[in-house]
Amino acid sequence: MTFDPTLGGVFLSAVLVGLAAASSAAVPGSSPAGAPAPAAGAERATVIGRSVQGRPIRARLVGSPRARVKILVVGSVHGNEPAGRAVVARLRRTAPPRGTALWLVDDANPDGSAAGSRQNAHGVDLNRNFPFGWKPLDGTYESGPGPLSEPESHAMAGFIERERPRVTIWYHQALRIVVTGRGDPTLERLYARRSGLLRRALDPLPGTATSWQSDRFPGDTAFVVELPGGPLSSAGVARHARAVRALAAAVAPPRVVQRPIPFGEQREEEMRRYARRHYGIDDYRLRHPRVIVQHYTVTDSFAPVFNYFATDAPDPELGELPGVCAHYVIDRDGTIYQLVSTRIMCRHTVGLNWTAIGIEHVGRSDAQVLGNRRQLAASLRLTRMLQGRHGIPTHHVIGHNENRSSRFHRERVPHLRTQTHADFPRPAMNVYRRRLERLPAPESMR
Ligand SMILES: [Zn+2]
Repeated sequence: MTFDPTLGGVFLSAVLVGLAAASSAAVPGSSPAGAPAPAAGAERATVIGRSVQGRPIRARLVGSPRARVKILVVGSVHGNEPAGRAVVARLRRTAPPRGTALWLVDDANPDGSAAGSRQNAHGVDLNRNFPFGWKPLDGTYESGPGPLSEPESHAMAGFIERERPRVTIWYHQALRIVVTGRGDPTLERLYARRSGLLRRALDPLPGTATSWQSDRFPGDTAFVVELPGGPLSSAGVARHARAVRALAAAVAPPRVVQRPIPFGEQREEEMRRYARRHYGIDDYRLRHPRVIVQHYTVTDSFAPVFNYFATDAPDPELGELPGVCAHYVIDRDGTIYQLVSTRIMCRHTVGLNWTAIGIEHVGRSDAQVLGNRRQLAASLRLTRMLQGRHGIPTHHVIGHNENRSSRFHRERVPHLRTQTHADFPRPAMNVYRRRLERLPAPESMR
């Protein structure tokens, strides 16, 4: 094969990291007066607010500012629970998985850290000062005069509103558990497994950062990791840093190589006419995908599939225009090609083209595709992402052979109402759907 999309991607990101390293190494103040600060950075610190006593609260971005998915890690919010800061320090040297970036807040309570106290300099427990379920509390858990009364919690809430981290981890001590939150349980379990901590629920607490985040951004996940007492061993630091990285990898968007087939005005018009004939819809656009249909190509490689879909010729089976196509084709090595925008209808499944995204797999049988680890992993990730982006539940991820039992199946041409193909019948799809459900929730991968 002369075409290797992976190499291109690796080379490009290596160049970006090189550039970023160069820009972050620049001496502050060495740029001419009035010149903008260096833009992108593999790691750059931003002051997101100041404490009661004026200490800066810094957030550092590790990875590309354009990464679709951001993971926020907060090393410490109670000044007498500092162990997580070592994990954050370790993460500064990490390369986050493709498509993700880490926002690292070493210390959300620098005055408390300086004083070795749980609270900030006003004597407020910042993790009782967030707006969700806020209650007036005194003593150790003093919650302040009102929600977000404190500059530190105000800064963190504003930062989270702006950056919308998909996943947030707040380190505390010293219960040695991952605290069950209201986000995606798969992600909490993954962290627990990788870190060696048990996952346990605690009684709900008023005004915590994680409960506010879960209420404010329901598709995102925020949870507390309670580290053991005392400083972490270096093995412990490494283990928790790896657990964060595993989380990032679990929600990283799959790599999609764009390989558009020609879909000009003529083909759009042919699609519009097809939709009118078969569905009574005067449109070629896929307005609201509700179904994802899995297929296999009955070929051994991608090239003939692309050529066949690119040729806008009447199909041999029904003799209609436009030619058949699918939105995505997944090759044997796991490379995902996108051939058609998901905003346009493709002809891939009789009865469902008006509302279904089509995914083809290069292969000759269900068993072959399901038995190919890389191809199946890519397929599951792509499908999960599409589920998340379009709000499609798993029971509407179907095989071509299941088209007639979809509640969205409709066909105006009577002799086509029972038409189907042999690819991906129910038993194969039951395996596929079970595997799909093991991935993070669709919202985590949107
Ligand atoms: Zn098919």
